[in-house]
Amino acid sequence: MDESFSKAKSMVFPRNVLAGHGVLEDSGELCLSFGFRGTGIIITGQTTSGLAGNKVLTSLVDKGFDMHSIETGASTMENTEKVIEECKELDPRFLMAVGGGSKIDITKMVAVHLNIPFISVPTSAAHDGIASPRASIKVDGRSKSIKATVPMGVIADTEVLSKAPYRSLASGCADVISNVTAIMDWNLASRLRNEPISTFAITIAEMTARVILDNSKSIKPNLEESVWIAIRPLIVSGVAMSVAGTSRPTSGSEHMFSHALDIIAPGKGMHGEQCGVGTILMSYLHGADWQLIRNALLDIGAPTSARGLGVEDEDLINALVMAHKIRPERYTILGDKGLNLEAAQRLAAVTKVV
Ligand SMILES: [Zn+2]
Repeated sequence: MDESFSKAKSMVFPRNVLAGHGVLEDSGELCLSFGFRGTGIIITGQTTSGLAGNKVLTSLVDKGFDMHSIETGASTMENTEKVIEECKELDPRFLMAVGGGSKIDITKMVAVHLNIPFISVPTSAAHDGIASPRASIKVDGRSKSIKATVPMGVIADTEVLSKAPYRSLASGCADVISNVTAIMDWNLASRLRNEPISTFAITIAEMTARVILDNSKSIKPNLEESVWIAIRPLIVSGVAMSVAGTSRPTSGSEHMFSHALDIIAPGKGMHGEQCGVGTILMSYLHGADWQLIRNALLDIGAPTSARGLGVEDEDLINALVMAHKIRPERYTILGDKGLNLEAAQRLAAVTKVV
């Protein structure tokens, strides 16, 4: 035995991931199987409440749960604190997050605060946060990735998800594709900075990206089958973060570029869309096959250019120059100094992003 061995880690995963047509109706059954009893709260939004919240509510009430609903808005710290206060009054045993990213992000935070489990019920698939241990919360107007908790279960109803705007699904697919450069960055940090890596997490993250890249031609609007193809990689991508204990396998230089764009041109592209374009750019810098990434995004119908993201060329180039400053402790292909203006302009032009 190696006496000096002292490694230890904790990996928390969802216990049951229910995905497919009409699975929303099994919400009550799933909660019973987890041993939940008594009071539960559905945290949802105005539109998502009608879309899926009512179905979840009916299914749970049918199984004898005492259910309440709280409607909330954007994933800000203010809204999170408000929901925490409202929940405290009802003393729930569990929470159901029914909605897009923001409702799930808020519920993750509330669940940690109240120390109770929650179920993730996505109504759109815009990014890989459905089952990840991190919540994206706006603090003082800026999005922060905060350590929260993973859902005990996921209920991903492809019928409901296929009714969400297709742009969300395309954005979610692009977010999974971005694992490609995130992994290259992590490997680079391992070689250059001796940063520890998890080959297990890398294998999972790589596999999810490959599923989307290999099936890019089958991911189309108005097709429930597309949701079926994309939703599992989106969920499992979050699991890769749990295995790694960090967002490293799913977030590298392409995410730093996206966050820089959020600062320079806020509210234009969706998170996954921006990360997809970032993946084209960072693939080029890594000397990888950026055209493969670009073609897959084109197949899916996700943006591949500044114009597609609805941002000015100049803003995109400035975001490239700024990207390395976003998360200086995370070593990537951008290095310590990042790109200078001329290199950023050339990079964007060569890859047809501007
Ligand atoms: Zn992402």
